[in-house]
Amino acid sequence: MDPDSGGYINTSTIFKTSLLTITFSAFYFYRTEKYSQPFKLTLEKKDSITVAEKKQAKPVKKKKKTIYLTFDDGPNKGTRSVMHIIEQEQVPVTLFVVGEHVYGSRYQSAIYDSVCQSRLFEIANHSYTHAFGNRFEKFYAVPDSAVKDFIRCADSLHLTTRIIRTPGRNIWRTDSTSCTDIKTSTAAADSLQQNGFKAVGWDLEWHFDDKQRLVQTTEEMINQVDSAFAKNKTKITDHLVLLAHDQVYANSQDSASLQQFINKLKEKDEYDFEQVSKYPGVSTD
Ligand SMILES: [Zn+2]
Repeated sequence: MDPDSGGYINTSTIFKTSLLTITFSAFYFYRTEKYSQPFKLTLEKKDSITVAEKKQAKPVKKKKKTIYLTFDDGPNKGTRSVMHIIEQEQVPVTLFVVGEHVYGSRYQSAIYDSVCQSRLFEIANHSYTHAFGNRFEKFYAVPDSAVKDFIRCADSLHLTTRIIRTPGRNIWRTDSTSCTDIKTSTAAADSLQQNGFKAVGWDLEWHFDDKQRLVQTTEEMINQVDSAFAKNKTKITDHLVLLAHDQVYANSQDSASLQQFINKLKEKDEYDFEQVSKYPGVSTD
């Protein structure tokens, strides 16, 4: 055996083998790069779809608007109807009560005790005498006596709330809103605020006529609520205080209208109901 010849053959074989290995490696590298590229893109694309899908899948909770249902002048002959409807519908409301109405009869005292037991009813102060029996000008002309009338109501009913509604006047004195509808009441309104009261007026009223019957139909009231929000006609955007009066709902037709009204607002699923203590500028949260 020629060692040189064998050596030559061996060297040549090693050279060829190395050349093949380099060529194969280069080809493999090329293929790997070529085919891995679309794969990477696909992965990236897939990832971005997943993020988009996740964004889409996450339910976006629509912020609801808030309605504060308030009833003035109770307790009286309509308060029991209001109580039944509110308990059936399970919506929170605020009752602005008149001190002397609580003591007006045993029936009124009893119904007052009942609403005080229910978490759905928040009790607030509507003065003791309802402005000396609707003598509004006289009542508001002397700020001190107006303040004393609210203090008398709070003391006699042991109210801890400072929330009030002024009889016959749409007055606001909260941390966020200050407004007086009839300017001759301004001094009394300021005095009430200086004495620590928070006066909450209303954005919309469900009126009644001299026969104590509702003026607006249920549909009209729903439209007025929708429109007040849509046109931003409330004191604070997305918050609406609605004024109603207990005595009207002693009538069965009108109490049916109240229940229908609440039902329809609930069905819309765009409104929340709260008590006035949660209103911005009144709430201590
Ligand atoms: Zn009133």
